Amino acid sequence: MAELCDLSADELARRLRVKEVSAVEIAESALRRMEALDERLHTFLTPTPDLAREQARAADARLGEGPEVPAPAGIPLALKDVLTTRGIRSTAGSKILEPYVPPYDCTPWARLKAAGSVLVGKTNCDEFAMGSSNENSAFGPVRNPWNLETVPGGSSGGSAAAVASGQAVWALGTDTGGSVRQPAALCGVVGLKPTYGRISRYGLIAFASSLDHVGTFTRSVRDAAILLSAIAGNDPLDATSLPEPARDYTEGLEGGVRGLRVGVVEDWLRMEGIQPGVRDAVRGAIDRLQRLGASVDEAKLPHADYALSAYYLIAPAECSSNLARYDGVRYGFRAEGRDVVEMNMKTRGAGFGDEVKRRIMLGTYALSAGYYEAYYGQAQKVRTLVIRDYEQAFERFDLLVGPTSPTTAFRLGEKTGDPLAMYLSDVFTIPSDLSGTPAISIPCGLAPDGLPVGFQIMGKLMDEATVLRAAHALEQDLGFSSRPPLLEGASA
Ligand code: GLN
Repeated sequence: MAELCDLSADELARRLRVKEVSAVEIAESALRRMEALDERLHTFLTPTPDLAREQARAADARLGEGPEVPAPAGIPLALKDVLTTRGIRSTAGSKILEPYVPPYDCTPWARLKAAGSVLVGKTNCDEFAMGSSNENSAFGPVRNPWNLETVPGGSSGGSAAAVASGQAVWALGTDTGGSVRQPAALCGVVGLKPTYGRISRYGLIAFASSLDHVGTFTRSVRDAAILLSAIAGNDPLDATSLPEPARDYTEGLEGGVRGLRVGVVEDWLRMEGIQPGVRDAVRGAIDRLQRLGASVDEAKLPHADYALSAYYLIAPAECSSNLARYDGVRYGFRAEGRDVVEMNMKTRGAGFGDEVKRRIMLGTYALSAGYYEAYYGQAQKVRTLVIRDYEQAFERFDLLVGPTSPTTAFRLGEKTGDPLAMYLSDVFTIPSDLSGTPAISIPCGLAPDGLPVGFQIMGKLMDEATVLRAAHALEQDLGFSSRPPLLEGASA
């Protein structure tokens, strides 16, 4: 039987308001689950049980004063460790930030804290969010609750695994090339990456600024809409934040898909290397959309094939600049040296992991005089072509759909020796990061290997509403209710 920590935030919020449960009971349920599973899953880099208890008591006090309390009050939350939290260590999965305790809160957390959220911990992730499997975390990988021999995806794997395993009811992550949607797909939860600029990035430890998005992990599409409503809206502290104020994204959620024009990116389903079980589950979901009244036809994103290559120039280029600040002077870890140059070199040499170094070197190369036009400049042109592909496709369609990831969760170690194979995990997610358009992954079934498959729904710029509406309709129709086998008989 499902425990409190396995319910949706929406259901828990209802029970809290009719006083059927207390926030303390919910927090204890999540913390017991953490106690039972975190050691095996390695979900958290910094668990915060004391804070969770304190915030749960405060939420109960607020709820006691009346029902007009924000939706996140009393709901256990996990935050990816690239999101800064005042007074709580924020490592970004890197040795170089291992001792770093930020003096300020990122805006999404500031808003959730003010709304009465209960933070259970900071989640493990690939170092500086660079990776697709969590194996690039300097502190060791997260395991997938569906099968402990497989990866949870990355880079927000800890956040995805926390929600899939009931250690948190919802979580935040970041998506620069797919890091919310891909781990959501591999862990069987809902992952939403809204429009670029929709959620403030003030206080986000930057990887690639023109691509970084904050996104949500939830158990249901409705919860994604609730969480987005709580954290979206203009933030003067982030110059790239969209001007619109926050709105209620649950409005119109029940509108269904009748009459919506849905484009299927057939090329993705035909791609060599897509797992047949993934293809079949995605096809099944498309048939459902059609039965629910959507009109379905083939869509083309002709330049999407080049998106991956463009991303692996643009993202490293931006990272090489963003990560220049980790010089041992101001933040975190410092290695000793005879002079400042030696100190910088030793700090960066010992503080960064292999993948981060690879990206910094690639990025520095792509930006250097004589190569800039051929690499970075060329990649930016491809990015523009991808943006145009979406604009053209969205003249004919309201939504585009396809798989989130070509495979289900792969085995730990399977791709660590081959960066290019690892990079391919994001082939279907990167295009929406390049274009900044909103996209969601929802579970659409289990493949024959017993692992969840993610279905991706991509929308027009600023049109989270239609993405959420279609995802909700499909989710209701699919009735996906499988849980990681690990949870059967789990305590709490
Ligand atoms: N896996 C991709 C990368 O390694 C995407 C990461 C992300 O979205 N943060 O860059």
